[in-house]
Amino acid sequence: TPVTIIITVIGVIAIVALVTVAVLQNRPLPQKYKYGIVLDAGSSHTALYIYEWPAEKDNNTGRVEQTYSCKVKGPGISSYASAPLKAGESLSVCMQEAKQRVPGRRHSQTPLYLGATAGMRLLNSENSSASDKVFQAVEEALQKFPFSFQGARILSGQEEGAFGWITVNYLDDRLKQGLETKGALDLGGASTQISFVSDNYDGSESPDNAVTFRLYGNDYNLYTHSFLCYGKDQALRMTLAQQTQSGPGTINDPCFHPGYTESRNYSVLYDSPCVSDRKPQGPPANFTHIGTGDFQQCQEVVKRIFNSTHCKYSQCSFNGVFQPLLQGPFGAFSAYYFVMNFLNLTDTSIPLEAVREKLGHYCATPWNQLKQQHPKVKLKYLSEYCFSGTYILTLLTEVYNFTSENYPNIKFIREIKGSDAGWTLGYMLNLTNMIPAEAPDSPPLPHA
Ligand code: AMP
Repeated sequence: TPVTIIITVIGVIAIVALVTVAVLQNRPLPQKYKYGIVLDAGSSHTALYIYEWPAEKDNNTGRVEQTYSCKVKGPGISSYASAPLKAGESLSVCMQEAKQRVPGRRHSQTPLYLGATAGMRLLNSENSSASDKVFQAVEEALQKFPFSFQGARILSGQEEGAFGWITVNYLDDRLKQGLETKGALDLGGASTQISFVSDNYDGSESPDNAVTFRLYGNDYNLYTHSFLCYGKDQALRMTLAQQTQSGPGTINDPCFHPGYTESRNYSVLYDSPCVSDRKPQGPPANFTHIGTGDFQQCQEVVKRIFNSTHCKYSQCSFNGVFQPLLQGPFGAFSAYYFVMNFLNLTDTSIPLEAVREKLGHYCATPWNQLKQQHPKVKLKYLSEYCFSGTYILTLLTEVYNFTSENYPNIKFIREIKGSDAGWTLGYMLNLTNMIPAEAPDSPPLPHA
């Protein structure tokens, strides 16, 4: 009957539809993206970054983007020297999060890197077995995740500088297009890096500072230097240590605000290879750290940690380190950005004199008033912005030699197009061969 025919036809359609759905569900969907994870084990904290790029373009034109970042709770891994297992455990929250964010089917092909910087360089120099134990614990913790773990290691200062430079120029699209490059200024807690291309530097003078690349068919002679102990936390230690040399008891510190008083422990202050050789013999356990809030005097105190008496090259920045003539635009990131952003000084079109004046006014602000104005800012950061701002200005203008003319060439940046400025992206691009030496083939001419 017609009714039976209609029911049969509907039944057949339903079965075909069900089979089609089942087949489609079983067939893996095409994977559009690939992923890479880098952990930046800095001196004061560790951060995890996930990068993503289109699967079909991974080694030439595809743009790699940061899709997620996670700040690990607690201090940097070098602070776990006496409890290494805790260094590994500290990473687990961010790693679990990464597991959720990278699609399951990509886990096993997703490279995972951990790079440690100056905090671990310092720990390694003073106690290499403690640093080995921290690495062992961190590696064991990371191996438990389903990613393709590529190892944990300390980056050299040169690598840190060069990869930061690659990141900035890659994100700015300057490399692929062969445009003028941007220098990179990176300020961490334990070291600081300066990297730029200068026409008067071909790498022959002071070859230790040279890194050469061939990227997208262009050759680059990069000048780079990393100053260990000149990150802002170690620089503060050196400045304080310098001031305690004049005698135990009390220091009146122009880099801290009027009304600031803190009792500090000598052993804690001198517990770093950046200052340990200057530890006074037999001082009392504590000293009183009193703020006087004077930018100009602070600058004088800061200047004393830079030695500019000897230079065997045509010119030096400080401590006998060669530096060619500054050239081109610069991006200044990490703590350069955090500090200048807090101080409302990221606008480099403000004349340097006005910047100094604003900082002078800020440093002279009484500590109590400042605490009331910024109830949510961590007190340790808040107490140190006067020092940090003065340190940054001194480093840039008195040491690297930025002047009123080229100070506006600096841009204080946190990120570029959604990706954080720092060495991690450049590191991953390099290790995954994602920046080709030669320019990708141009598309064939249209058929005439
Ligand atoms: P590192 O851990 O070596 O990468 O160094 C980062 C530096 O930036 C350390 O000196 C931190 O104390 C500092 N830092 C991070 N966040 C802030 C912030 N919000 N304000 C001031 N300094 C910061």
